[in-house]
Amino acid sequence: MSSDPSAPCTPFSFELYPPRTAANDAALHETVLRLADAGPDFISVTYGAGGSSGGRSLDVLRFIRENTDVEPLAHLTCVGNTYAAAASLIREFLDAGILSFLALRGDPPAGRSEAYLGDLESAAQLVQLIDRVQTESAPYEETPIPGLPRAARITHRRTVNIAVAAFPKGHPRSTHRTQDVEALLAKQAAGATFAITQLFFHADDYLAFVERARAAGVTIPILPGIMPITSPTRLRRVLELTGEDLPSELSIALEIEPTAEGRREIGIRWASRLAREVVDGGAPGVHLYAFNQHETVLTVLAEAGLLPALRS
Ligand code: FAD
Repeated sequence: MSSDPSAPCTPFSFELYPPRTAANDAALHETVLRLADAGPDFISVTYGAGGSSGGRSLDVLRFIRENTDVEPLAHLTCVGNTYAAAASLIREFLDAGILSFLALRGDPPAGRSEAYLGDLESAAQLVQLIDRVQTESAPYEETPIPGLPRAARITHRRTVNIAVAAFPKGHPRSTHRTQDVEALLAKQAAGATFAITQLFFHADDYLAFVERARAAGVTIPILPGIMPITSPTRLRRVLELTGEDLPSELSIALEIEPTAEGRREIGIRWASRLAREVVDGGAPGVHLYAFNQHETVLTVLAEAGLLPALRS
């Protein structure tokens, strides 16, 4: 663990999802404020494929923008959309002052065929569309002035940040090993400014992927996505969603631990070791999947030696 107080801080960021019901809004707002106090580079908010949670995602993003100094980053998926609908969605987010995106293809809903994809077939095409819509929109933005509710500062709109997904262990749809690096190269060529990885369980999965990507010409930063897995149920669920191989050591430890608190500690220990290892291996930061709770991810960062003193 790094204990040198003069060592430069490693950037970190968090992912949240929009609450399923308004009853959970207050708890999420508290989580946003607590995460913001830690000084992340950005907080990202997931987006339901097919627009199922778009409005609620934007509400959370607005809350982050209006109540913290942290950059809100919107996940956007293109699945099932026409070009016109996707462009108007992007405009809606830009008009709300959101300037950072994670451009995703998304997955057709269960039971729908790949033909449901819509006009945009890949994340790379969505990256280009975000870039185009941003260029076409008004070249200025209004920034609220703290303490003056009706006043706004007019500033030149800055360029958007467009992140994309990367898959160290391969996307479940990939048919060969190099396809994921090729897909990332295509996203970079389309204008992506950085990548965030799917969760992985071993530092070498990430470090070897970055090495392959660099050798192939990927130059954008690749942020490792780290998820603290604190129960066997969560582990099963993420394996189903991601197609990752079962990490047997973690799986056994979670299965045999009798208490919820003990399982939480196992998940935190695993994630903090992973965070430390990837940072030591050269990762430009860490992106933590927070599951709308602040304590676990903040403890992961603290145990990894990556949490600067909280701002007062
Ligand atoms: P793409 O980059 O277009 O493709 C993904 C992979 O598919 C490529 O790596 C490539 O290997 C393969 N591929 C691409 N084209 C083809 C082809 N023609 N034939 C065969 N294989 C091909 N989903 C949501 O709905 N909402 C979210 O908020 C969300 N957030 C996410 C955040 C992160 C960090 C990650 C890693 C994933 C997230 N996802 C989310 C899931 C994502 O939508 C799915 O993984 C989706 O299947 C692929 O999206 P993509 O942007 O990577 O697609």
